[in-house]
Amino acid sequence: MNKIIRNLALVICFFIFSSLFSTFALAQQKTPKESLSQWAIHDPNRPLPPVVTPGPPLPPVPPPSDAIVIFDGKNLLNWVDSKGQPARWKVEGDYMEVVPGTGNIQTKMGFGSCQLHIEWATPYPPKGSGQDRGNSGVFLMGLYEVQVLDSYENKTYADGMAGAIYGQYPPLVNACRRPGEWQTYDIIFHAPKFDSQGKLLEPARMTVLQNGILIQDNVELTGPTAHKARPPYKAHAEKLPLMLQDHNHPVRFRNIWLRELE
Ligand code: MG
Repeated sequence: MNKIIRNLALVICFFIFSSLFSTFALAQQKTPKESLSQWAIHDPNRPLPPVVTPGPPLPPVPPPSDAIVIFDGKNLLNWVDSKGQPARWKVEGDYMEVVPGTGNIQTKMGFGSCQLHIEWATPYPPKGSGQDRGNSGVFLMGLYEVQVLDSYENKTYADGMAGAIYGQYPPLVNACRRPGEWQTYDIIFHAPKFDSQGKLLEPARMTVLQNGILIQDNVELTGPTAHKARPPYKAHAEKLPLMLQDHNHPVRFRNIWLRELE
């Protein structure tokens, strides 16, 4: 009997210690926010993520039945420039291409939380290096940028490479195809929420897959993305236009559609 009680006591001790240990280990794990604060913006010492080679480029991914198609390759009727004038990027074949100097373009419609599919290709042959190579960007609500860059054998600061939430989160891996090859972003975006006084209730969150590979896993944005700054949130409308960046490089986009989320 004594032996049974002793064994039972041993088992109970084991469970208590192991649960204490795992609680401690969890507390030691860094949340994305904590690890973000370790790094200065565009910190050149921030480690670059490992390279993962995606599968070969595929034909455009057909939009599902409930998607809003915002670019089907035919024209830019759903798009305007920052002044509300017709977008002046080039449309050719089934894609649009940045015409350097014509400015960013944005959708006429506004969107909040959504699942966005967008395909892009950086110029071939590649030209320039670092940020000056195949640079553009996908700005959810015109404020929150997923960086587009030719990051195939092209180093730059980690929080500014392809798939980075610009200035905040480097991608988990470098899932880039070669310049000139079509790549996909599938973005799940949760818009930030504000109360009636403009106080932040919930930050924006993003999950991103590049070429089918997870590169951002539900990260909490610190505020709008910016160059050399991490500005705080400012209350804004529930829906705002999707913006694509003219960064002076002839980057191409095709097959852009989204599904609105509640
Ligand atoms: Mg950019």
